[in-house]
Amino acid sequence: MKSNVLKSVVLGLICILSLSLSTYAQPKKTIYILATGGTIAGQGDTEVTAGYKSGAITVDELLKAVPEIKDIAYIKAEQVANIGSQDMNDEVWLKLSKRVNELLSQGDVAGVVITHGTDTQEETAYFLNLTVKSEKPTILVGAMRPSTAIGADGPRNIYNAVVTAVAPESIGRGVMVVMDDKILSADDLAKTNTLSVGTFQNPNYGPLGIVYNGKPIYTRQSLKRHTANSEFDVSYIKELPRVEIILSHSNATGLFVEAAVKAHVKGIVTAGVGNGNLTTALQDALEKAVKNHGIAVVRSSRIMTGPTAQWDEVDDDKLNFSASWFINPYRARVLLMLALTKTKDYKEIQRMFSEY
Ligand code: ASP
Repeated sequence: MKSNVLKSVVLGLICILSLSLSTYAQPKKTIYILATGGTIAGQGDTEVTAGYKSGAITVDELLKAVPEIKDIAYIKAEQVANIGSQDMNDEVWLKLSKRVNELLSQGDVAGVVITHGTDTQEETAYFLNLTVKSEKPTILVGAMRPSTAIGADGPRNIYNAVVTAVAPESIGRGVMVVMDDKILSADDLAKTNTLSVGTFQNPNYGPLGIVYNGKPIYTRQSLKRHTANSEFDVSYIKELPRVEIILSHSNATGLFVEAAVKAHVKGIVTAGVGNGNLTTALQDALEKAVKNHGIAVVRSSRIMTGPTAQWDEVDDDKLNFSASWFINPYRARVLLMLALTKTKDYKEIQRMFSEY
């Protein structure tokens, strides 16, 4: 009788021990942090004044402000670039995309966090959303205040990005931006305020979730094609087709379309008024660009939310234009560049704008 009681006590203790080991002794995962510059790596003259230089400190210095991430994952850091993201370019995009693909194909790497300036973060995030071929998390993070400012938002954003990157529930969600405690999808990302730390939004669909108490909490998922399910492959590409954005406004003429034709661009995205509408002069110039020079035209809108829908006031099929639906002009430029690596057919381009 006594030995039975002893056996049960020992068994109980073993159960409790293995339960606590499985809860607390999860093996740490490896997360790569790729740094590209931006305000997050910015340095000001003082802690309180406005002037500062983007991309001034190295990734190692940047990570010293957030030692807590070492408790969450094995951190490996690389400096890919150190620029203000207003100077982000195709060369860095291709380098970044190839490096992320290389890293995520390694069995021991659980995810990648990219530090980036906020000015063009929506473009880089979307480019990677369409060219990274992995379900593992790729997360971009920035800051609105330089690293030297009182209340710098960078360290908290990096911490939140790393906890999101290691979480199994972050797998398969596409490229995300984690800032201001929000988890945002790259397929609907917009910088909505020039200075506020809460600048990033998913204005059409709402955020994917939040980071709370060191854990991501997801409330929706993207229904668009992305990452492992994307048809685009830049592994063999050295140069991307040139695409420009042209704005419509009262009295807009065909001047910039003519300049774009002369510069041999391959595509034009319009930031139209309302539902992607264009002045008659601008539309006529674009029609000629398509017919006479084979330039691909995608209509988008300068309005922050809502679709640029097909066949409303503009007869897209008659003009051989494509409409961008929920993709704003900045992201539409990225998708059109990638689309043009595969096709020039406006119907095929239209399919891509409906699927991504
Ligand atoms: N100009 C900076 C950049 O995009 C702004 C920022 O990071 O917030 O690099």
